[in-house]
Amino acid sequence: MKIFDMKLPTIIDTLNQIIFPESCLGCGKRLHTADDDLLCSNCITQIPTTGHYNYDTNEITDLFADNNVPLEYGCTFFNFRKQDWTQNLLHNMKYFNHPRLAKELGKVAARELVRLGRYSGTEWIVPVPMHDEKVGMRGFNQAEIIAEGLSEVMNLPVCKDAMTKTVNSTTQAFMQWDERVENASKIFISRRVGELCGHHLLLVDDVFTTGSTLIVCSRKLLEAMPDCRISVFALAKT
Ligand SMILES: [Zn+2]
Repeated sequence: MKIFDMKLPTIIDTLNQIIFPESCLGCGKRLHTADDDLLCSNCITQIPTTGHYNYDTNEITDLFADNNVPLEYGCTFFNFRKQDWTQNLLHNMKYFNHPRLAKELGKVAARELVRLGRYSGTEWIVPVPMHDEKVGMRGFNQAEIIAEGLSEVMNLPVCKDAMTKTVNSTTQAFMQWDERVENASKIFISRRVGELCGHHLLLVDDVFTTGSTLIVCSRKLLEAMPDCRISVFALAKT
């Protein structure tokens, strides 16, 4: 049914389903009043976390060391698995217009990170950019929304325009490392990063696959501001 064929109450109901879904965005079961308004308590407690943040070194910190990129700290929060309810989480967050889910998951992750004292010295949160056209189509950059969730819990400012993506590329899903590095190289540092100079930045992305985007963005931030320190975080790991 096209939206212009719908009666007003149906449109309102459809919009309500998007804004206030009655089914859990993870498992799809009906939400109860005791649940969060997006995810059931079962899903929140059963998020398959990576556990990276329990260790001073992990595969993220190792990747940066192998690529000779200085890093203060890095981790991811949960494992994304195809054919599993975590796939619903990412798809709802990215493609079905549930930015509040990205923010909520950012907050869930941040509470755990703060509890463990991770990223305690960071001063600014910098989300990985998305091309304007893609933001226009999707309505939001999910890395930016995750950053807002982290920001609320960590009490840190978010610098949304530190970087820009000038070329709109197709999805990275099937790209190899070299193609991903080439794709990420189309991200540029904005001229308005003066206030970030000399600070400890927390670079945030939604999904970690090979780490190429975080590596390239970190290199670019350090080239532009050699006196910065960089930490990185990705909400999900494929
Ligand atoms: Zn659920």
